[in-house]
Order: sequence, then structure tokens, then C-alpha cells
Amino acid sequence: MMRTGEEVHPCVGCGFCCIRQTCTFGCQRHPEALGKVCPELGWNGNRYVCRLLTTPGPMVFFYKEELQVGGGCRSYLNPWRKEIRPRTKEDLINL
Ligand code: SF4
Ligand code: SF4
Repeated sequence: MMRTGEEVHPCVGCGFCCIRQTCTFGCQRHPEALGKVCPELGWNGNRYVCRLLTTPGPMVFFYKEELQVGGGCRSYLNPWRKEIRPRTKEDLINL
């Protein structure tokens, strides 16, 4: 769902939000990865993508709705947005 009354900053796939905190679906599907980067997060050569959202199937619409895909980035002042690249372990320190 699109938020209203404020400027929308599109997701550029920097990965910050998913790397910083795995969402409910990532936690539910991967309890073994507690405290690690979500296993559903992948680098496609240009940006990070969530595999739940790119794998065809009946659940993809539900995930898109629940994760508010298309609703814009809530971390739009984050410097990661200006440097889209695969992140290293060093990048994750003090995140
Ligand atoms: S922090 Fe913003 S730009 Fe980066 S992956 Fe999350 S929504 Fe997309
Ligand atoms: S399941 Fe997808 S949206 Fe959720 S944290 Fe993992 S990569 Fe991000």
C-alpha cells in the first residue's frame, strides 16, 4: 500500500533494511539463521533482492502486500543507498 502525504523514495536495493533486521517471514522460514543475514536476501549483480518476492508462486502477492513493496524506502537518508554493492562482514559491524 502506498503511503500518502509524503514523498516516496523508491527502494534501490541497497540491502540495509533486510541486513539490519530480518523480517517476520525471514525469521519464520529460517529460525536457524537467527542473528545472521536473512538467507532469502540475494545479490542479483546490480542490487539486493528478496527471493520471497522473486520466486513465482501463490504466496508472492501476500508477501508483497505485507512487506509493502512499492511503498518506498523508510531509510532514505541512509548512505548505503548511494553505494549499492554486495556488503562485506566489515560493513555489518556496528550496524
Ligand atoms: S534500506 Fe531502502 S533502499 Fe535499501 S533495501 Fe531497504 S527499502 Fe530498499
Ligand atoms: S524475507 Fe525478504 S524481506 Fe524479509 S528480511 Fe529476508 S530478504 Fe528481507
